Amino acid sequence: MIVVSGIQPTGKPHLGNYLGAIRNYVKLQDEAVAQGGRCLIFLADLHAISMPHDPAQLNASTLEMVATLVACGLDPARTVLFNQAQVPAHAELQWLLMGTARMGWLSRMTQWKDKAGKNREGQSVALFGYPVLQAADVLLYQATHVPVGDDQKQHLELARDIAQKFNNDFAPKSANGEEAPVFTLPEPYIPEEAARIMSLRDGTRKMSKSEPSDMSRVNLTDSADDMASKVKKAKTDPEPLPSEAAGLADRAEARNLVGIYAALSGQAVDAVLREHGGKGFGHFKPALADLLVATLGPIRDRFVELKDDHEALHAILANGAAEARALSRPTLDAAYSALGLVRG
Ligand code: ATP
Ligand code: MG
Repeated sequence: MIVVSGIQPTGKPHLGNYLGAIRNYVKLQDEAVAQGGRCLIFLADLHAISMPHDPAQLNASTLEMVATLVACGLDPARTVLFNQAQVPAHAELQWLLMGTARMGWLSRMTQWKDKAGKNREGQSVALFGYPVLQAADVLLYQATHVPVGDDQKQHLELARDIAQKFNNDFAPKSANGEEAPVFTLPEPYIPEEAARIMSLRDGTRKMSKSEPSDMSRVNLTDSADDMASKVKKAKTDPEPLPSEAAGLADRAEARNLVGIYAALSGQAVDAVLREHGGKGFGHFKPALADLLVATLGPIRDRFVELKDDHEALHAILANGAAEARALSRPTLDAAYSALGLVRG
């Protein structure tokens, strides 16, 4: 089992990142080690430059994200934790895969359409090519499991398409005609509950780091008071909660809050509604705020302890990068060789 996933060090990590991705990294880290596999989690700093950004901010956010991941339970002794910029193989393999990815495939990516909006001509080439770098990120390590939120499912399918076409077009054949694939086709690991947490201000948009309004998300580093006030001000409707999940079908905001409660408490949505159904948000929101503070409070406390020890955070990234460089070497060499590129 090889687990690979990444998170952009842009903005503040939020509840959606935690429930959709980070919590699963921590779970898989133990499974991978138990099975004699590897877990690699990287900060996608090369992805972060695909949007307008402030260099000083990116630098600071990268260290903050390392502190957050460790505070959430990622253990640098068991997980290879690094940033892309210190492992040049990511950028190299992306270029090699650019010859295989098709313009049409990338044009169909919903994240590209969402992030570019109406101004496609004004976007960076990096924002368009982003999913090719993402494919390189996981193919480089022969990933078998890729824990991501539901919003990244399409990009992972693209990574599989790129891997398949590359293997098909370039994988060397042995004497008996059998293919020796260069890349393993990665599987998404998307547990159903909490796969997509929505904005607190608009139940039709996903919670995002890049959303300008801070009130739209619960940050993992928010104080208990901030969490409570964000939940209190979250958009809802005037109806009491239904007693069964089916009653949430047309109520995006209510469905999101109940879904968050279910994911945090480890209960099914129906179980949450058995307890809270028939009651209004005046009752449910304080219960949700308490649960958030109880779950995320300890993470925040550990983050505060870790965040200013820059030397230790740099050391984690340097060690992780050295290991990632070694692990990526064989696949990168195989890709160069399959394409017929001459190297010393
Ligand atoms: P940005 O707005 O900068 O793209 P983001 O909030 O989408 O930030 P990413 O760094 O792109 O965060 O994603 C990190 C991981 O978190 C990915 O696996 C992604 O699928 C997951 N994720 C992001 N937002 C959510 C969400 N609202 N619900 C569940 N998972 C999410
Ligand atoms: Mg994103």
